[in-house]
This record gives sequence, structure tokens and C-alpha cells, in this order.
Amino acid sequence: MSLYGDYDPQNIFAQIIRGDMPCYKLYEDDDVLVFLDLFPQAYGHTLVIPKRAAARNILEIDADNLARLALAVQKVARVLADELQPDGVQVAQFNGAPAGQTVYHIHVHVIPRFSGENLQIHASGKADPAELEKLQARLVPRFQDL
Ligand code: AMP
Repeated sequence: MSLYGDYDPQNIFAQIIRGDMPCYKLYEDDDVLVFLDLFPQAYGHTLVIPKRAAARNILEIDADNLARLALAVQKVARVLADELQPDGVQVAQFNGAPAGQTVYHIHVHVIPRFSGENLQIHASGKADPAELEKLQARLVPRFQDL
């Protein structure tokens, strides 16, 4: 029943929004937070989350926050495509455990995809923190005008 249930304010993304947990932040405004996935499926794997919606999934989020989230996702996809020059960009969003959801604060994956690499749905391991820091330093300036 993971598709239905109460929003848990202690979920990891809620903690990141509150600043109680660190993240490799790329961009933040009043509506959204954009940060690097700790277990990337590909180089540049980025997450976009709404800050003002206590919603677990797409069934629960209100239209206004969903619209702002979608606009941010498009901007993130454009920045990643421009800076990292992938061969494709995957936008993915999972609802409920059988669909692959593991964190119950709605989020959208924006994943640069490179020809010849396996299309992983879940990552094989945690990224090297030094690599994430380097990537963050490369991408943050590109997100200034998001
Ligand atoms: P999902 O399977 O759609 O629920 O995706 C959750 C994503 O969050 C996975 O790709 C995880 O690697 C990622 N993740 C979990 N904890 C963190 C964290 N503290 N910082 C960044 N990404 C995380």
C-alpha cells in the first residue's frame, strides 16, 4: 500500500529541505530544490523536488506545485543537456514501491544518458563524494539563472 499513506515529515528529502541533512545542492528557490543523487544511475543524475508540497507522490501533489515542479524539471534538463552534452535525457518519476519508489516525498529524476551505457533503473552504488563535489562545482554556475 505504499501508494497510499500519510506523509512522513521525517523522510530524507523533507530533512534535506529543512537543512537537517546535507545534499549536493545545485539550485534552490522558494518552490524547488535541485540536488545530485547520491547513488547515480549515470553521470549527472539529478533530483528535483518541490519544497512546499507535503506530497508523497503524483496522486497527492496539488496542481500549482506540480506545475512549478514540471517547469523546473524542464529547466534542469536543459542545463544538464547543455553542460554535459549527453546523448539523451531521461525524466523519471516513481509512485509506490512496486513502481520503484524508495523515498516518499515526490521527486523527479533527471538523468543524462550516454550512448553505450547500460540503462540502469536503480544505481549499483554510492557515488564517490569527491566526484560529486567536482560535478557540483561544475554545475552550480550553470544553474544561477534557472
Ligand atoms: P526513488 O527510487 O524514485 O524513490 O528515488 C529515490 C532516489 O533518491 C534514489 O535515486 C536514491 O539514490 C536517492 N537518494 C536517497 N537518499 C539520498 C540523499 N540523501 N541524497 C541524494 N539522493 C538520495
